[in-house]
Amino acid sequence: MQDSYTQFISTGDSSQEEKIVEAAFADLLECYLESNHRKKVDIIRRAYDFAKEAHKGTRRRSGEPYILHPIAVARIVVEELGLGSTSICAALLHDVVEDSEYTREDIENAFGKRIADIVEGVTKISGGIFGDKASVQAENFRKLLLSMSTDIRVILVKMADRLHNMRTLGSLRPEKQYKIAGETLYVYAPLAHRLGLSKIKYELEDLAFKYEHPQKYKEIIEKVNETEEHREAIVEEFVAPVRKMLDDAGFKYEIKARVKSAYSIYNKMETKKIPFEEIYDVYAVRVIFENDDDALEKIKCWQIYTFFTEGHKLHPERLRDWISIPKANGYRALHLTAMGPEGKWIEVQIRSRKMDDIAELGYAAHWKYKDGVREEETELDTWMNTIKDILAHPEPNAMDFLDTIKLNLFSSEIYVFTPKGDLLVLPSGATVLDMAFAIHSHLGLHCMAGKISHKLVPLSHKLESGDQVEIITSETRTPTPEWMDFCHTAKAQSRIRTYLRKAQDVEIFSPEELDRIGNPTQKREEKKSLVKKILKNPFSSKKKEKRKASAHQPIDRQKVFKLYPDDKEPNYHIESCCKPLPGDDVLGFVNEDEEVVLHKVSCPIAMRLKSSYGSRLVMTEWGGSSSRFLTSVAMDGIDRLGILEDIVNLISTRLMIDIRSMNISTRQDVFHCDMSFYVDSAETVTTLCEQLMHVKGVKFAQRTS
Ligand code: MN
Repeated sequence: MQDSYTQFISTGDSSQEEKIVEAAFADLLECYLESNHRKKVDIIRRAYDFAKEAHKGTRRRSGEPYILHPIAVARIVVEELGLGSTSICAALLHDVVEDSEYTREDIENAFGKRIADIVEGVTKISGGIFGDKASVQAENFRKLLLSMSTDIRVILVKMADRLHNMRTLGSLRPEKQYKIAGETLYVYAPLAHRLGLSKIKYELEDLAFKYEHPQKYKEIIEKVNETEEHREAIVEEFVAPVRKMLDDAGFKYEIKARVKSAYSIYNKMETKKIPFEEIYDVYAVRVIFENDDDALEKIKCWQIYTFFTEGHKLHPERLRDWISIPKANGYRALHLTAMGPEGKWIEVQIRSRKMDDIAELGYAAHWKYKDGVREEETELDTWMNTIKDILAHPEPNAMDFLDTIKLNLFSSEIYVFTPKGDLLVLPSGATVLDMAFAIHSHLGLHCMAGKISHKLVPLSHKLESGDQVEIITSETRTPTPEWMDFCHTAKAQSRIRTYLRKAQDVEIFSPEELDRIGNPTQKREEKKSLVKKILKNPFSSKKKEKRKASAHQPIDRQKVFKLYPDDKEPNYHIESCCKPLPGDDVLGFVNEDEEVVLHKVSCPIAMRLKSSYGSRLVMTEWGGSSSRFLTSVAMDGIDRLGILEDIVNLISTRLMIDIRSMNISTRQDVFHCDMSFYVDSAETVTTLCEQLMHVKGVKFAQRTS
């Protein structure tokens, strides 16, 4: 990224600088030689020489020779990601195509296709998706990961590049810092998390946090430091008995008092609205034991677990067994939470050295445990396939199959997409309404529903990772107090609260304003009563009035009452509680207007009527024959004032079809309607559905039987 990190100053290399550069490269080589990769020093040296030549005369904004950056990235690649020579070469060359005259072809000619591919991939990411000009990513996160699958090293090298840029962010102008920090939080940290690179994830988050909220970062770090001594004393008291048992059992181990990262602390303070002092899981302990027999790894974890059960009170709901079933990103460990001194809960993570390495470095750490020389390709392939597999099947819980057994700690955040593919990171449990507010307050305040893969969902619908959500709004729609239950994020809740408070003020001070705001509510009530009316009598209200006008003959309770469902106006009513259809086993109940009301025999209300109003019962029998057949249609749409009237008018007045039953359910503004009627042909149903789709608000209508 030339405009942010590079300056062109032709000063010529002083011998002092040359020494610094050579020393950095020598350190890199040393790191590589300490690993048990194949020792391909030659190609690495060639890559270094090539990159040095390409970046000659350019400097980073900090003033240091540019080549120090690729060397540092290569070092992260070998030291922190555990990768081998191919990745090291690619890291050394990663900015060559972007920042110099050299092309991909030049690299391919000198280093072969594989390295050239990785460099090209990194260049593409830098310039495009994550590039300078694309701060709001218009790329689907999931698709992005899948598209990188040709070689996972592309993203690993890019990750190392970003990590080094974040570590040296201080030399950039503040607005650049801000932008890059935001992007890091938005894209790279979640990506690192997905890849199981938790150490890098935490570092990226903390670095980004430091630049985004310098003051808050400082405060938290100060508090963490202030409390360090006390914290260590508490932890030491807590682990003392366990240490003894570990020693007695002959374990070689290390116990680390772990501090939550500054960013996690900040996040928790923000989302839970609690002060630093109330974050209980600041206290955490990690027990790492040495183990040379894989077969005993699990047993040893559980053995150490029992050391904690002796003399400590365990939190019953916070046992996490990630050794039997590892997390999707490869994480394995046994977690427990126990009561420590001063009534503080302390989380304990039990891991073998290998588990710990994998947790910190991701699957890239596996090579350390292979006998002999590592086959980088196969290892990475296996890892990538695991990740691809998870990403390619984003059914509920597939992102984290552990959710299915209620061990849902893996992801505290979800990734959702706008229709255009913009990525949003929301806390898990976030709803459609949360997402609307996350995009823009205006969207939130007028949100009516969401649409996920062509299905309408209500405001309170919980989103899942990978969901692509369209927010449906209406200018007339505004928050009601019940909206508070539909959202999860602090942002949405505070916006709704503010809105409601304002609306209330208006009510007090201005009757005109009250009118304006009050109206939608009033309309909603009208609408509700209309729904009730239609449910009560699935024929238009006019007909009902007509029927009321004509005096009803008293019904002879001793005779069998014949039911004529096919008449233009059937001689009975259907109750909405059980909605009997012609042919169903029904009970007739004579109401005060001497009308027969039908219930299914199985209907609980009918049972009550039977016991309390036996004298009003009448025997019934289905009569009348018809060449028409019963069919049903399902509809989905956005509720609006008058929509049911329009639907009913279309069906019964314009198409002259009698509605047999109608079952409407509305959740917030989304309505679903199942209707059944007698029709003469299938064609009529098709026409009906087509016309229903033209009713404003109806999004979907289809025959269901
Ligand atoms: Mn770079």
